[in-house]
Amino acid sequence: MTRSWLVGLCSCLLVLALGLGNPPLRAAAPLQPLSTVVGLPDWPGRDGTEIAPDQGRESFMNAQVPGGGVPSPPVAPRLVQALAHSSNYGDRFLTDARGEPVHNEFIVVLHETVASAQSALNLFRTAHPRDQDQVSYHSLIGRDGTIYYIVPPEKRAFGAGNSVFDGPEGPETVLTNPSFPPSVNNFAYHVSLETPRDGFNNRLRHSGYTRAQYYSLAWLLAQTTVPDHRITTHQAVDRSGTRRDPRSFNLQRCLTLLRRYPSRAVPVS
Ligand SMILES: [Zn+2]
Repeated sequence: MTRSWLVGLCSCLLVLALGLGNPPLRAAAPLQPLSTVVGLPDWPGRDGTEIAPDQGRESFMNAQVPGGGVPSPPVAPRLVQALAHSSNYGDRFLTDARGEPVHNEFIVVLHETVASAQSALNLFRTAHPRDQDQVSYHSLIGRDGTIYYIVPPEKRAFGAGNSVFDGPEGPETVLTNPSFPPSVNNFAYHVSLETPRDGFNNRLRHSGYTRAQYYSLAWLLAQTTVPDHRITTHQAVDRSGTRRDPRSFNLQRCLTLLRRYPSRAVPVS
């Protein structure tokens, strides 16, 4: 009796041990997280601190304009780290929800806040236990050109819901959670621009972004290896039919400023 109980217990432990060592294959295999990235802006400084503003100034001053000279005016981005609450971002994955490997190159998705930068930062710092409430960008550029770093680049910011990037080789999107539509978040670097006060509404356009915002955005994009044709907008990738941001944004102006950096002097395609 005792012996058979022991045999039974051991069998259960053996089954349990085998089970733990070799989890059964499931339709939704565990997602494999990505640990490091290259070609995206670094994650500098400590939370809440201003980070080496002179570093940005020097980079901008040294940027050569094709044909000589330096950009004018030499705007120096002020860099501030404002880490989001951990509920508002997650891992990037090497596999999708079906266990299939994913190989997308990074894209940059541009947004606007439709509110003040401070209220957006407060939102990202707030814990959101419900999946549908979780939201973040990797970085945000204030009206004065300050760049706030919100989510580390190797992590997946929740900047776009139902979304697809139409690349030259076809549509790109990744399903990471079967409860939600696929999105570009797994391979996107999300950057948002603080909206002017006359845009705190759902009208089609507003007075646009400051010169400092365009300069800081160009500086930020110059830290990446994302080619021009993979710099896009939330409106372009959105498949919900509800997103039009960033409204009143001049992408060509941004790319022209980007050309002032030696590494981006020639359009990257
Ligand atoms: Zn957006």
